[in-house]
Amino acid sequence: MLQRFSLFLSRTPTWFAPLNVAAAAFRSLSSARAVAFIALALALCSGVQAQTQSINLYTTREPGLMKPLLEAFTAQTGIKVATVFLKDGLLERVKAEGMSSPADVLMAVDIGNLLDLSESKLFQAINSEALNAAIPAPLRSSDGTWFAFSLRDRVLYADKSLKLESFRYEDLASPAYKGKVCIRSGQHPYNNALIASMIAHRGVAQTEQWLRGVKANLARKAAGGDRDVARDILGGICDLGLANAYYAGQMKTAAAGTDARKWGDAIQVIRPTFAQTGGTFVNISGAGVAAHAPNKVGAIAFLEYLISPSAQNLYARVNFEYPVRQGVALDPTVESFGLLKADLTPLTEIAKHRKEASLLVDRLGFDR
Ligand code: FE
Repeated sequence: MLQRFSLFLSRTPTWFAPLNVAAAAFRSLSSARAVAFIALALALCSGVQAQTQSINLYTTREPGLMKPLLEAFTAQTGIKVATVFLKDGLLERVKAEGMSSPADVLMAVDIGNLLDLSESKLFQAINSEALNAAIPAPLRSSDGTWFAFSLRDRVLYADKSLKLESFRYEDLASPAYKGKVCIRSGQHPYNNALIASMIAHRGVAQTEQWLRGVKANLARKAAGGDRDVARDILGGICDLGLANAYYAGQMKTAAAGTDARKWGDAIQVIRPTFAQTGGTFVNISGAGVAAHAPNKVGAIAFLEYLISPSAQNLYARVNFEYPVRQGVALDPTVESFGLLKADLTPLTEIAKHRKEASLLVDRLGFDR
């Protein structure tokens, strides 16, 4: 058998020089070494195959949140995921890489970021029965370029001593809360989308009036992150502010004695509603197949995994988000925040007002 392998190599045409070199090397080997040589050759071949069994994921999502999902996907499918975490500049990077981009899947939070990727033609359209069946139409693009996998409601964190049965986003501008409000930058995508939503409901003029009122109520500069609202409530700097609900889930379940747990324990979570619709603002996280994905099949398999009941359960349990898939249980802490009645205004409608929202924040000097 070894001789036959040697013979085959010796007959390879001269134009394939590397193989002839390998044949010469092989003929000079002892039997035991030849076996090792074949093992090495097979390992190299399977290495090539393994390469086709991996995908490259570009994501802006925090590594800690993604890890359990990625590990479960690899365990289930054998497809490895090489991840590039980008805090900022996902769009710029993929754009710069152009047609030679190794990215298979692009994942981001916020409808605005997904639409920016889509409008820059950085996604390709796919048609997946599994995705279309499990994700309601308003939570995926009509052209099959991006898909939402989780929902994230923007809620009120309030000092536990405040007696609040309900709250409207409009109330944040009430003079009753002068000097008591903490919030992150008005230009952050989370707030940009909320302000865009207010514009969709009330128009620019009324939203400007509202935002002026919110600014007048600020206890400190609009800066930092969502968790800092809870931190500053504990620190007595403010009494209330807006933040995403999943951070409250993270903080309230953090290890006892940690700062995060102390911040989480200091707040109550209330779901505000818009006066006009009676719904709470809900944004999304999502993903799509990259325009020049080297492994399109693997990329689709990954997206289909993300909508599976087990992955959706991880979104709920590890990330404290709302699963997009029907019938997946919520994390008990998130469930304790009460029933979510989402505002049903399509996110693509809200996203049309992103630019106006950003200009408004600048015009009012909200972040200054
Ligand atoms: Fe976040």
